[in-house]
Amino acid sequence: MAEINETEKLNNETEPVPETSEEKTSEEKTSEEKTSEVKTPEEKTPVKKKRRKMLHIQIALITVIPIIIMGVLFVFIGMYSLHKNAVYEMFNCLKGNCILIADHFSSFKGGFHMDSGELYCGDKPMGEEYYYLENIKKAYGSEISIFFGNNRVMTTLTDETGDPLLGTMLADSRIVSNVFRGNIYSTEKNTIRGERYLCVYVPLYNKDQVVGMVGSAISLKSFYRANLDMNIVIVLLTLLTAVVTFIMIGVLSKKIVRRLTKISDYMEELVTYQTADQDMDDSVFRRNDEIAELGEHSLRAGQSIKMLMGTDPLTTLYNRRAARQRLKEMWEVSHKDFTVFTIVIGDLDHFKKINDEYGHDMGDTVLAGISAILKKHAVDNGGFASRWGGEEFLLGFDLARDETCDIIKELSKDIKRQAFFTKNHKAVHMSMTFGVASFTGQENIDAVINQADENLYKGKNQGRDCIVS
Ligand code: GH3
Ligand code: MG
Ligand code: MG
Repeated sequence: MAEINETEKLNNETEPVPETSEEKTSEEKTSEEKTSEVKTPEEKTPVKKKRRKMLHIQIALITVIPIIIMGVLFVFIGMYSLHKNAVYEMFNCLKGNCILIADHFSSFKGGFHMDSGELYCGDKPMGEEYYYLENIKKAYGSEISIFFGNNRVMTTLTDETGDPLLGTMLADSRIVSNVFRGNIYSTEKNTIRGERYLCVYVPLYNKDQVVGMVGSAISLKSFYRANLDMNIVIVLLTLLTAVVTFIMIGVLSKKIVRRLTKISDYMEELVTYQTADQDMDDSVFRRNDEIAELGEHSLRAGQSIKMLMGTDPLTTLYNRRAARQRLKEMWEVSHKDFTVFTIVIGDLDHFKKINDEYGHDMGDTVLAGISAILKKHAVDNGGFASRWGGEEFLLGFDLARDETCDIIKELSKDIKRQAFFTKNHKAVHMSMTFGVASFTGQENIDAVINQADENLYKGKNQGRDCIVS
């Protein structure tokens, strides 16, 4: 007969009870030590927070870094292409100016020559054409210079005092030699008075012979200023794209981490504390994706663990631990609602003989068969059946004592009717002795169990195969 161990009080529900006071094996010690090492949720919080932060950081790294690299590349390639294109367009414009002026100057009769430091075309002093150069400057924003040989003889460029920058020579001999061979020459690297200019030079002819050059130039500073707006637009658009992407990744990674956290919390609760009571948070299944699938597997694993934790493998009845949980629930409901419930402890009569005479396997078969009968009667009557000890079973019913006894009478008849066959095809019949006790509103759960146990003991002493209530 089972004795109610002091350490089995209900407030210790989740802890398995040591069977003896013998020294613990090294294996047990290790597992106990491990359990004591398990940190409380409060202690774990900083570690968890750190781990979640790491996941955020990892998601950020694999998404944000490429975005930053792409953004920087986009800005540089965008600005570079814009610059190249703008330079090309500007050279065309400057070239157009030069050709226009060269054509205009060549439209006068006679050849170009210098007289008293002034450029003439035939009899016409070209100084009269300054207005033409100024108009081109006004229209296109470019400086114009006319060279006779390598000497700047007319120009819209002025010095600090506002006087035309006349009489200066081109330092770059490549320009002069190229243009005097009849080519148009464009350069980004010409420096005039310490400032860099984009310049184009075209030849100025006397009949077929090059005698000078028309140059058109724009300072790089004003050229960059004109393109600044487009560069700002490129940078701002890239920044805006990056910021929107960061925000979206941030929100998304937060959601992913939150859902993974729910699964992790569920598994932690299950594995570490073995409560297995909680359900998986609905947010895990909000999207039908890999995380939802992981959640489903975890949930199923949890349900299996929960089942295994509370089930006796031989009989598939509740084990002692699950039975105590069920009794606790029954007691709480009855206590709250002022209702009764009844406990039955049944023990097979002379079961040892089965093992001794027909072997342990036969004993197991009998235990499984009897358990099926117990389960059927318990469940059919809204109760439960559990394997309380070796060949001892505890049943619980939300019923009063007399109603329960009627059920047990039928159950006892079914047990006796059931035949178990040995290897030699001999039919064996079993009987069971039952102790019954009810909760009537005052007792604690252990008192009710003890009472049922005492009644079972009485039944055994009275000759077995009976119900004592
Ligand atoms: P009583 O009528 O007084 O209850 O006598 P009994 O022989 O049924 O009781 P006892 O306590 O002397 O023997 C119970 C036996 O049940 C002893 C043990 O070997 C056997 N037993 C316990 N668990 C199992 C099990 O899982 N399988 C088998 N085959 N036997 C078991
Ligand atoms: Mg027994
Ligand atoms: Mg027995």
